Amino acid sequence: MTRYDLAVLGGHVVIPYVGVVRTDVGVRAGRIAALVEGIAPHEAGSVVDARGCLVLPGAVDSHFHLGIYRDLGEDAESETRSALVGGVTTVLSYFRTGRHYLNRSGPYREIYPEVLAAVRGRAYTDYGFHIAIMTEAQLDEVDWLVAEQGVTSFKYYMFYKGLNLTADSTRASDYTLTDSYDLGHLFLLMERVAAQAQRRGREGRISLSLHCEHAELLRVFIEQVRRAGLRGLEAYHRARPPLSERLSLAEAVLLADATHCPINLLHLSSREVMEAAIAAKRGYPHLDIRLETTVHHLALTYESAGGVRGKVNPPIRTEDDRQALWEAVLRGEVDTVVSDHACCFEEEKGEDLWRALPGFGGTALLYPYLISEGLHRRGLPATRVAELASANSARAFGLYPRKGTLTPGADADLTVVDPDREQEVHPEVLLSAQDFTPFAGMRLRGWPVYTIRGGELAFANGQVVGHPAGRYLHRPLRVGREAEHGGA
Ligand SMILES: [Zn+2]
Repeated sequence: MTRYDLAVLGGHVVIPYVGVVRTDVGVRAGRIAALVEGIAPHEAGSVVDARGCLVLPGAVDSHFHLGIYRDLGEDAESETRSALVGGVTTVLSYFRTGRHYLNRSGPYREIYPEVLAAVRGRAYTDYGFHIAIMTEAQLDEVDWLVAEQGVTSFKYYMFYKGLNLTADSTRASDYTLTDSYDLGHLFLLMERVAAQAQRRGREGRISLSLHCEHAELLRVFIEQVRRAGLRGLEAYHRARPPLSERLSLAEAVLLADATHCPINLLHLSSREVMEAAIAAKRGYPHLDIRLETTVHHLALTYESAGGVRGKVNPPIRTEDDRQALWEAVLRGEVDTVVSDHACCFEEEKGEDLWRALPGFGGTALLYPYLISEGLHRRGLPATRVAELASANSARAFGLYPRKGTLTPGADADLTVVDPDREQEVHPEVLLSAQDFTPFAGMRLRGWPVYTIRGGELAFANGQVVGHPAGRYLHRPLRVGREAEHGGA
């Protein structure tokens, strides 16, 4: 009888907050069973050769949009496949009622089981959902979502209040399918989330995520930019300027202070908003505020992002903004780096900036980008890479230490990265359904060779090798208990 189901031999194992250790990894029953030197090949059912490689905890891509523009089940299948390429083994996806997704509104008691049913058996990674509470009636479902559905994180979109940029109508109600989506709604939502955090937060963090852009400012800047006839992604940056992010962030933080609601400030895109977010953390030390930025905001500028295809909210900005985000990452001010993955086809981008769908995919680049441009180019330690891509997201969203680390008892979710493997980014290497990428042509050094989820090889040498066996994560996950995966 073999001692381990699988062993990862000869690698340098990256343990967040601890360090990099030269050790073998023994896996049994889907969990890390041992970190020990000198596991012999015959002691394991199968062996992964990690010599010369980094062994990192599977990334937790905590900002994802499964099914935003496509069939939810189909999207789950193709886009979690793409996630494996980037060493991602868990995705936390946003879901809301209203326009896109399932294109309807109603109670989550009806809709959430449909969401889970659509994704069940289709995902290659483990997965969970952050839920956007869009209507007054849904406020009463927060407690049920936390207590019975394993949802520990929620979302509010600051800029849905007065405008709708992507559809034909300009009224928010056509987008959100609700008419009370404003700061009053946000205040009530924060009260609900804060009450749950107070009651159950010790078992795992409960929080609210915020997309900070300001509807009323966008209204006038968009009008100005359109009237001036400005074009391209620079126009989009000017139409949705950093000031809008900053004002919206100030409103959100003030309400978080009033309600004691733990918050996540999503996809910080500019120097101005990053400085404001850092100042908020310092100015409100008693609040739990986490800062997120994205691969695309770190990697691209409005000049390099391929025109309309690089449209995303908040916009891709200037080189100075990009540098400021990197400085904040290197100083340790940023908690998480994510993809904000939203699969969308070139045809849906089209030529018209104002009608193009916002968003694109990037999950396949999460580790490759951070290793290439962080570790190699800027001296970011491997442990910090693993914290930004995995451990900090796991901690923020009720998954740690079952996810986000490689210590005995943790789920055997890991990726073996060849730090010297260099590859140019093309849609074909990303294994996504998306037929273009704004990152095309970028040369990155440091790609996953193997990705293992739940102790099973899921991705090897550029190919998906497993089945879509990803599990729903009923949060908070805990070490030493089996039942949490049962939620769906
Ligand atoms: Zn998003």
